[in-house]
Amino acid sequence: MAKIFCVANQKGGVGKTTTTVNLAAGLAKVGQRVLMVDLDPQGNATMGSGVDKRKLALTIYDVLLESASVAEARVKSDKLIEGGCGYDILGANRELAGAEVELVDVERREKRLKLALAEVDQDYDFILIDCPPSLSMLTLNGLCSAHGVIVPMQCEYFALEGLTDLVNTIKQVHANLNKDLAIIGLLRVMFDPRITLQQQVSEQLKQYYGDKVFDTVIPRNVRLAEAPSYGVPGVVFDPSSKGAQAYVAFAQEMVERIEKM
Ligand code: ATP
Ligand code: MG
Repeated sequence: MAKIFCVANQKGGVGKTTTTVNLAAGLAKVGQRVLMVDLDPQGNATMGSGVDKRKLALTIYDVLLESASVAEARVKSDKLIEGGCGYDILGANRELAGAEVELVDVERREKRLKLALAEVDQDYDFILIDCPPSLSMLTLNGLCSAHGVIVPMQCEYFALEGLTDLVNTIKQVHANLNKDLAIIGLLRVMFDPRITLQQQVSEQLKQYYGDKVFDTVIPRNVRLAEAPSYGVPGVVFDPSSKGAQAYVAFAQEMVERIEKM
């Protein structure tokens, strides 16, 4: 049975997509079967996996509206396979923005993704969902589908404040819609140990959230930022870079955590 994780944080630009695609590649590299679901109309995770979002015949939008199955809409990327990190992709593009409105009057609209993913459960060890920077119906579909949430965050002054909203949303979804849901962990990303404030916030995080904070820390690393323009995750683009190595270590930490779950 696949373990399903949302990568979520309603704050924009905190490293959700970078984390999703690099964790997907890292897990594939250590032998896991992975489906990456792009739940963001920006389609960054799709493009960053080497799939042209403008040329997709079927996307997550068709799946949510039940005009296609996941098996019909998923695609593969040659670049990932060549890089030894092949994972499947359920892509998104701007069409997905319309789903929010089109799902308004639909029954059990927040369960659409969960039902669709159940059909491919046997095909994967991990399903990773890249959420948009909002607590919208799309994110809700992600949270209703998942066993856990991975929260990437930068160790900055307002980071803890933003976390409270997300934690409350997750608690509500847990109480009302998805009993399986838990925060798997907080992932410190774009970390620069030379900055004292970042060290302080990192310490605070560990005090408040204890072992919910992943051991792995993702450093700020320009190779991770360059990779999307080549249509591959950093793990494939420059495997020897500090950022890529950190994401592979994170993939291993995830596999170990799952074994203990
Ligand atoms: P959005 O909320 O718009 O979906 P996001 O949370 O998915 O954004 P990303 O797109 O992953 O965030 O990252 C934002 C920017 O930061 C991107 O330009 C990305 O390349 C860069 N970035 C992410 N992680 C790192 C890192 N560890 N080191 C350097 N740059 C990074
Ligand atoms: Mg993103």
